[in-house]
Amino acid sequence: MRAMVIDCHTHVFSPRIIKNRQRYCERDPVFALLYRNPKAKLATAEEIIASMDSAGIEMSVIVNLGWTTSDLCAETNDYILESIARHPKRLIGFCSVQPKDTNAAIAEIERCARAGAKGIGELRPDMQSFDLSDARLMTPFVEALRKHKLVLLTHASEPVGHSYPGKGAITPDRLYTFISRYPDMPIICAHWGGGLPLYALMPEVKKALGNVFFDTAASPFLYEPRIYRLVAEMVGADKILFGSDYPLLAQGRVLAELRDTDLTDADRALILAGNARRLFSIKD
Ligand SMILES: [Zn+2]
Repeated sequence: MRAMVIDCHTHVFSPRIIKNRQRYCERDPVFALLYRNPKAKLATAEEIIASMDSAGIEMSVIVNLGWTTSDLCAETNDYILESIARHPKRLIGFCSVQPKDTNAAIAEIERCARAGAKGIGELRPDMQSFDLSDARLMTPFVEALRKHKLVLLTHASEPVGHSYPGKGAITPDRLYTFISRYPDMPIICAHWGGGLPLYALMPEVKKALGNVFFDTAASPFLYEPRIYRLVAEMVGADKILFGSDYPLLAQGRVLAELRDTDLTDADRALILAGNARRLFSIKD
């Protein structure tokens, strides 16, 4: 029997946003940065379901963007919440907030948790203009996530290497300050954490990463396929989550790469679904 697959990093948008793409680019710099180029793909919930069916993916985590305003977060969260309600067996939802508006963010976290969201993200601290090391801002936000048992997903990027739209500046040092302050908080660092796993070879860093996961979103655009095995060695295969970054990449491309790497079958099964099932408490 083929192992189950859960894709932990995908983006969907409502037909209304897709239709009015240009208008939303004018309203939000994060959306504009990623989708100003008309070739950058956008997908609806129905499109991802069709794509999951053809790629052999049972469940996907649909994550929002780090919109700069609370209004745009709430508007787009509605679509994530409607989509998970329509496809409860196929889709898991992550909603977005603007942590700078503390009260609005806490109320929105509450609303999304009640409606079944499992997490908040994909945060873009650089473009949403808040500082992950600002304890006065971050502590009430983290408290709200803890209260509702939500997982946090943040974008992450490499301090070196080629540039790409949306790369940003959420580098391992910035992530580490935040992570070490809230060691009990389950955090997913996207795109292999911008290289943070390397530092898990330092014992104190390894310890601080106890509740941190790394996703593989967009991996073929960033690293050689050896990354799967090497990060598994550095942080443990139990800390890696398969994510495609669909529709930026077709799920099958990342899956093929992951299936071809020299991991043990047990480690591959953890990355493809086992870790996500544990993190999101998914029963059979
Ligand atoms: Zn990202």
